[in-house]
Amino acid sequence: MPRSRLISAVLLGGWLLAVTLLAYLVRQPLAGFALAAALALIWMSWSMQRLRSLPAPSVTPAGTPAHPGHDPRRVRLLAAQFRALRNAVAALPDAVVLLDDQCHALWFNPAAGTLLGLQRPQHLHCNLREQLRDTTIGDWLAAGANEPLPDAPAPQDPLRHLSLSLIPVGESQRLLLARDISTLARLEQMRRDFVANVSHELRTPLTVIHGYLELLDPEDVPQLAGVLNDMRGQSKRMAQIVEDLLTLSRLETQTGANEEPVAMAPLLATLRREAEALSQGRHRITLEVETPADLYGSLKDLHSACSNLVSNAVRYTPSGGSIRIRWERLADGRGAFSVIDTGYGIPAHHISRLTERFYRVSSSRSRELGGTGLGLSIVKHALGMHQARIDIRSEPGQGSTFTALFPAARVLLPVAAADAAPAD
Ligand code: ADP
Repeated sequence: MPRSRLISAVLLGGWLLAVTLLAYLVRQPLAGFALAAALALIWMSWSMQRLRSLPAPSVTPAGTPAHPGHDPRRVRLLAAQFRALRNAVAALPDAVVLLDDQCHALWFNPAAGTLLGLQRPQHLHCNLREQLRDTTIGDWLAAGANEPLPDAPAPQDPLRHLSLSLIPVGESQRLLLARDISTLARLEQMRRDFVANVSHELRTPLTVIHGYLELLDPEDVPQLAGVLNDMRGQSKRMAQIVEDLLTLSRLETQTGANEEPVAMAPLLATLRREAEALSQGRHRITLEVETPADLYGSLKDLHSACSNLVSNAVRYTPSGGSIRIRWERLADGRGAFSVIDTGYGIPAHHISRLTERFYRVSSSRSRELGGTGLGLSIVKHALGMHQARIDIRSEPGQGSTFTALFPAARVLLPVAAADAAPAD
């Protein structure tokens, strides 16, 4: 029964009871009725006054009261809309799981069954972290899931690739979204395989061509000396492109860096020697070692990333400029390897795209200086393997600073320094 009718029934019953009671008390039915009527009049005028003093209820253009909870038609409409919304979410091909702040699954759609292996009713209110423990997704949830997880194997089908994100809902709930990206991942794998295979197939013929060109002496055929030099230069460039593509393929397919403690002092000394060899006395090159800290990672990949930065600084700094190679430990414990040059600099709008494959600020200058357009892409991938990132600051005409920032967890301090260092 609606609430308003129930209240009317109770009031009527109350009045009848009061009239009977008064009639009994004064032993005069008519006097009892008169007294009850007088009391009713007083109560009604008091109620009318209260009603007048209340603000007028706002009404929507359609004539429905603004408090939908009091209007049965509006309640039915809202319930229908809610069901439609829930049916729509249930029909989504992506898994949607509503989680509380403890990671309990409060609700999930049928796709969560296919993609995450959640079944009703046994997994309703289960702890998802526990349910998916020892899987990539479980580890990600346990670590706080602060960043989206771009590619993870599905818990029940490792061949299926999922992309996941966790979105806060209200104060304490979160929405877990999982999308099947297997087709995309397959296409990406095909692209990687294609580039790796083509590069691999080109390597041998290029080595042969380059070898024969080296055998030919321009002095024997002076009329072809210029042509021979051009052919040598171009075959060397092609071989370098192939080598860079193979390095990129290796970095892309490698799942984790080959971890070992990497002594920074010898690595930095090697980088300086390489810079001097490339510069051939055209630049002032200095090495600033501000910390005795070493790094934990892959020597090969770290060398590849750092030497790309150093060779870029040499190539993009005109003669007479200076180049500083710097290794330091920041106040927050991170390791910073910087290469600071006084070269051509880079206009701001190019900076965000520099690590894309084959992206160059000036193609002609890059080619002239023997660039492949792949160096910074290799740097980005090699650093990514170490959870490190590249920071680029540059001023056209003034120079550039490229800094590789390594997480504190990868910075190894010598025992004495570690004792003295503040806890991170
Ligand atoms: P490349 O082989 O062409 O040098 P990279 O990927 O190493 O390719 O660099 C991409 C582009 O970034 C270069 O073509 C160049 O325009 C710019 N660049 C890289 N390092 C520097 C630098 N130290 N100073 C100025 N420009 C730079």
